[in-house]
Amino acid sequence: MKEIILCKYGEIVLKGANKKNFEDMLTREIKKRAAAYGPFDVYRSQSTIYIQPEDDTADMDGMFEAARRVFGIVTVSRAAVCDKSMDSIRATARAYLPAFLTGKKTFKVESKRSDKAFPLDSMALSREIGGEVLSACHWLRVDVHEPDVTVRVEIREYGAYVSAGSFKGAGGMPVGSNGKGLLLLSGGIDSPVAGYMLAKRGVKIEAVHFESFPYTSERAKEKVLELARLVAVYAGDIRVHVVSLTHIQEELVKHCQEDYFTLLLRRYMMAIAEKIAAQRGCGALITGESVGQVASQTMQAIGVTDNAVSMPVFRPCIGMDKEEIVQLSRAIGTFETSILPYEDCCTVFTPKHPKTRPELEKVLVEERKLDFDALVEEALATLTTEYIEAQY
Ligand code: ATP
Ligand code: MG
Repeated sequence: MKEIILCKYGEIVLKGANKKNFEDMLTREIKKRAAAYGPFDVYRSQSTIYIQPEDDTADMDGMFEAARRVFGIVTVSRAAVCDKSMDSIRATARAYLPAFLTGKKTFKVESKRSDKAFPLDSMALSREIGGEVLSACHWLRVDVHEPDVTVRVEIREYGAYVSAGSFKGAGGMPVGSNGKGLLLLSGGIDSPVAGYMLAKRGVKIEAVHFESFPYTSERAKEKVLELARLVAVYAGDIRVHVVSLTHIQEELVKHCQEDYFTLLLRRYMMAIAEKIAAQRGCGALITGESVGQVASQTMQAIGVTDNAVSMPVFRPCIGMDKEEIVQLSRAIGTFETSILPYEDCCTVFTPKHPKTRPELEKVLVEERKLDFDALVEEALATLTTEYIEAQY
């Protein structure tokens, strides 16, 4: 029996002139992933992307899961393909569906005809196939309101498709459809999640990581690159820029009041990130901050941080509880790596009593004790870049 994967994208993102653009992006994303799972033919028709195995070596299970990680895809289903005749649809339903319906109690059938020349209308078709399913799986009952499984029959241009339920796709918008952003990527839990969330909204991600060698280790950097690899499974290839803050931190310790260290450091991070972003064509900075989570994330502290740059700063975790961020990080697979116990540059030289309600004027007085622009330039001179190729 011929099986195929059907990916549907949301009509919402497909309005107007952008429709073809979005469709092309989605098809390209799926083709990229398909290359890793065997010979597949990927094509598009009637607002659906079809992924059709070319022979038995194609890994259907792997491809199915990979398709569910593509942003912009709303549902993914597996279906058997058959001729557009009632006999053939019946026989296919009998042979194909029971394996998916074992252990389920209730079902309903939904039918759709894009081919209006098909002799039965949708209602009649659903009734026919419902009867077929009941006689093949006598443990099942029909429940049209809250069925365990929805069987779908579709009569389309090239044939008929019979499927047992569709699964939620990653949702969102195709990566690259909403510009490019620079993610400030630490080794923590929040920033990988922030990167994932913006990628989900179609933003292509680049990243900058700040290290403080020898106060931070090579292993800490490896961990961050591994996090980038994990985010890339969804977001696609990620360029990771690594910049040293060692000298800036040493200068802060020498010359500035201790309770301002973190705030001043964060302003340096933002300023350096903004320069890289401008150079790389990124329209926004992205951080994993959440209001009130730590001393440097009070409303006043965020205000002081923001004041260092003029580019928009996206903070998708801003209103989330830590527990919610953790949940998402588990779901996308970054959590276990994030909690590996390596130091971050923010955790070396941390003040004992950081300012939680800083006044900008006082911060600027401290900041002026150093040559801010020169230190930014010097830090930028340490920049190295790693290209993380997505492994789907
Ligand atoms: P995370 O879990 O993302 O590390 P956090 O709750 O530990 O966040 P902070 O350490 O205050 O919070 O960092 C706030 C944000 O600043 C991070 O989410 C990240 O975007 C950015 N950031 C912090 N440290 C670094 C770093 N070493 N390199 C790049 N960005 C960083
Ligand atoms: Mg952190």
